[in-house]
Amino acid sequence: MSGYSTAQLRDWDKRHVWHPFTQMQEWERDDQIVIEKGEGCWLIDTDGNRYLDGVASMWTNVHGHCRSELNEALKTQVDRLEHSTLLGLASEQSIILAARLAEITPTGLDRVFYSDNGSTAMEVAVKMAYQYQVHRGRPERSRFITFRHAYHGDTLGAVSVGGIDIYHATFKPLMFETVQAPAPYCYRCELGCEDRSSCGMKCLEALESIMQEQAGFAAGLVIEPLIQGAGGMIVQPAGFLKGVRALCDRYDLLMIADEVATGFGRTGKMFACQHEDVVPDIMAVSKGIAAGYLPIAATITTSMVYQAFLGEYSELKTFFHGHTFTGNPLACAVALKSLELFESDQLLAKLQPKIAWLAERLDGFRTLSHVGDIRQCGLAVGIELVEDKDSRRAYPWELKTGVRVCLEARKHGIFSRPLGNTVVIFPPLVISDGELEFLLDGLQRSIRAVTG
Ligand SMILES: *Cc1c(COP(=O)(O)O)cnc(C)c1O
Repeated sequence: MSGYSTAQLRDWDKRHVWHPFTQMQEWERDDQIVIEKGEGCWLIDTDGNRYLDGVASMWTNVHGHCRSELNEALKTQVDRLEHSTLLGLASEQSIILAARLAEITPTGLDRVFYSDNGSTAMEVAVKMAYQYQVHRGRPERSRFITFRHAYHGDTLGAVSVGGIDIYHATFKPLMFETVQAPAPYCYRCELGCEDRSSCGMKCLEALESIMQEQAGFAAGLVIEPLIQGAGGMIVQPAGFLKGVRALCDRYDLLMIADEVATGFGRTGKMFACQHEDVVPDIMAVSKGIAAGYLPIAATITTSMVYQAFLGEYSELKTFFHGHTFTGNPLACAVALKSLELFESDQLLAKLQPKIAWLAERLDGFRTLSHVGDIRQCGLAVGIELVEDKDSRRAYPWELKTGVRVCLEARKHGIFSRPLGNTVVIFPPLVISDGELEFLLDGLQRSIRAVTG
């Protein structure tokens, strides 16, 4: 409705927009889709073509695009207050949302620090954890224990605790040092285990030896609970998360759970930690919090951590961190309405049969000759494509097999985005059975067309 033609928009896009995680030389070569509208689980481009949003607009969308109740909540709030700062003032919507978050997150997490996105939520978590150690008189505890294949965002602190070389290696000279533990990546276990049912989780033993060595120098451990998202939808074996919590307790480390991708229903429960009755010391949320409408994030912690920061001003125990748009009322209002919709739609209850059906339907992918591993956690799926199934030999990354599958899927009316050679299924949680079938069908055909 801008009045500009698709050709004009494409031209300006190529000349003026620098897209994230994108080789712009390739981008400029091809004709790109320009999205103009959204409707339920669908994205509609400037020429009227419809694409099923198979990755929930970068894993954020929950209740569908342009959901009328959320639109109304936003419109109502914008006529009352668009923004006021939390530096020196409290504000209504941020207060109510904080109280709601304290209610729905694992018991004990009751103090909410707002920021704008997943990366900032993790920066806050890391700084908070270290400063907590300082206030306990342990300034030497400055290291963080992290996992291979971890992803916690793209700002430098978040990159430091990340473990995906292709994204992170360039920035090594700018990063602080961390201690990396093996990922619980059963399909490609670096400890050589073949069978997750009988290995006894050697990865937990490996983690414990690291902790034994590092405990005196480590502030905390950072983990994506249940599923390492950007690393390739790597699903952890049952009991792993609980084991990590027990080890953090034993070695007196703060457990930081990055629920940026998993939070707000994605795994079938509101938060991934709730599957294993784990209460982290610090929890970061963002992506789904405002249902994909606006950028907002929260780092939520316990009163134990919070109270360590209390003191006279002159004691310098203040947490000197904050972002300009912290606690933005528009985002908070939408987040609150989204939580209401979770209840009124009985979204989590309705998700359970969908998750079960998805698991059954995914079995049909196993017969494809280049599907090496299928990993599912709730409504998050990674289908790892391999050049050779028997040896599990990966496709050379330069072949961009995952990307080619997703380009093929566009012909079937699907927008998807892979993680390397892992095809991702991560739709809005409201996706209907028919739409889910459409998505799986299109992806299956696309995998077959590209890999033969
Ligand atoms: C996306 C993501 C982040 C980073 O969030 P941004 O909003 O992109 O900064 C952090 N952690 C996890 C687990 C994520 O999936």
